[in-house]
Amino acid sequence: MTSATVPLPAVGPLAGLVGAGLRVPVDGGREVTYANLDIAATAPCLVAVRDAVDAILPWYSSVHRGAGRPAQVCTGAYERARATVTSFTGAGPGHTAVFTRNTTDAFNLLARCLPGGTTVIGFDTDHHSALLPWRRGPVRRLRTPGSPAEAVAAVDAALADAPVGPRLVCVTGASNVTGEVWPLGDLADVAHRHGARIAVDAAQLAPHRPINMGRIGLDYAALSAHKLYAPFGSGALIGRSDWLRAAPPYLAGGGAASHVTDDGDAAWADGPARHEGGTPNLIGAVALAAACDAITAIGWAAVREHENRLQQALLAGLDGLPGLSVLRLWDDPAPRVGITSFTVGGTAPEQIAAVLAGRHGVGVRHGKFCAHPLVRRLTGGGDAVRASFGLGTTAEHITRLTGALRELTAAGRGTPVAANPAA
Ligand code: PMP
Repeated sequence: MTSATVPLPAVGPLAGLVGAGLRVPVDGGREVTYANLDIAATAPCLVAVRDAVDAILPWYSSVHRGAGRPAQVCTGAYERARATVTSFTGAGPGHTAVFTRNTTDAFNLLARCLPGGTTVIGFDTDHHSALLPWRRGPVRRLRTPGSPAEAVAAVDAALADAPVGPRLVCVTGASNVTGEVWPLGDLADVAHRHGARIAVDAAQLAPHRPINMGRIGLDYAALSAHKLYAPFGSGALIGRSDWLRAAPPYLAGGGAASHVTDDGDAAWADGPARHEGGTPNLIGAVALAAACDAITAIGWAAVREHENRLQQALLAGLDGLPGLSVLRLWDDPAPRVGITSFTVGGTAPEQIAAVLAGRHGVGVRHGKFCAHPLVRRLTGGGDAVRASFGLGTTAEHITRLTGALRELTAAGRGTPVAANPAA
C-alpha cells in the first residue's frame, strides 16, 4: 500500500489541552491550526492540570513551615502530590518520591546518593541526562545492542565482569529518538540476579505507558512534569529510600536540616525533605500530581490505543517516501511510544523542520535530541527530524505531516525549499 492510499483513522484528541486550536502563521500570510508534533520535547498542559493549579493558587502559602490554614492546606497538597506520584509509578513500600526540577535533576540527585565506589552500567543510546551524571565512580558504557535480548545479555555480561560492590544499571524506558520501549522487566531481573540495582529514565515512558515499578522490580525511576502534560519546573526521583537516607543532602539548607547547632553542624531530615532543601515547589508538585491523576482517569488502555492508531498511520504514511528512512534501534519491530525520527537523504533535517513549520504549521524537532552518540550512530554522523505525539494529537496532524513530507520528497532530494523564517 502506498502512503497515498493509506486510510487514516479518525482519531480526535484524547484529552483537553491548554492551547488546543492555537493558530500559527504560515507562508503567504495565512494562519493555520498548529500541529504540535514535538511533544517529546515538552508536552502542552492538560486543562485538568491548569484547573488544579487554579484551585490551589488562592491558598498559596508556605509548605512545612506555617500554622496558618493556607500553609496547612499547601502542606497537605504537597504531601498528597507525593503520594499520587508514588502511586502513579506503581512504587512499592520501600520506595519514596523526592521532588526535583526534572529528570536531569533526579539523576544528578541519584548520582550524589550512590554509595562510594558504585559501578554504573548503561548504554550509549541514553539521553545525556542518563548518560552524564555518573562521574564519581567507575562507569561501564555498553554499545547499542542489536535487539532487546542483546541488551539483556550485555547487561548480564557487564555485571558478571563488574567489580564487587554496589552496582547500578541505568537504562532508558523508551528511547527519545526512536520511541522503542526497552525490556525493563528482563533488565530488572538480570540486574537483581547479580545483586545490582536498576534505575530507569522514565522521561519518555511515563507519558505513554504505566511504569509499574513494584511489579517489574525497578529500584529507581526519574521523570519530568513538562513531558507529562504539566508545566516546567518539577520532576521526581522515585526509588528505594535506603541510599537516599544515607547520603548527604543534595541541597543543604532550610528544610533539609532537622536540627542545626550554634556551630553550624546539622542533623539532616530523614525522609525526602533531606534532598528537597529550600522552599518546595508546591505548584510544580500539585501540577505534576494532577497530570498523573488525569492520565490515570483516562486509562492506559485508551492512551495506548490512541497512540497506536496514530503510530500506525504515521509509519504507513512515511512508508515508501523516496529517500526517507525511519530510525530504529532494532530490526525486529519493538513496541514504540509516540516518537518517530527519520532522515531524508539529500535534505537537511533543519530544512525539513523549517518547511514543515513555515508552510504547514507543523512543529517537529531536528538535531540530535540530547542523545548525540545514538543519533550519530543511527544517521552515520548527522542530524535527524523527530515527530512525537500524544494525548492532544489528532489524525489530521499526522496526515498533515505525512502529506507535507510526500510533497517535500516528491519535489526531489536536495532541492532547496524556501522556508518562512518568521514561523
Ligand atoms: N531522558 C529522556 C529520555 C528525555 O527525552 C529527556 C528530555 N528530552 C530527559 C531525559 C531530560 O529531561 P529534562 O530535560 O526534563 O531533565
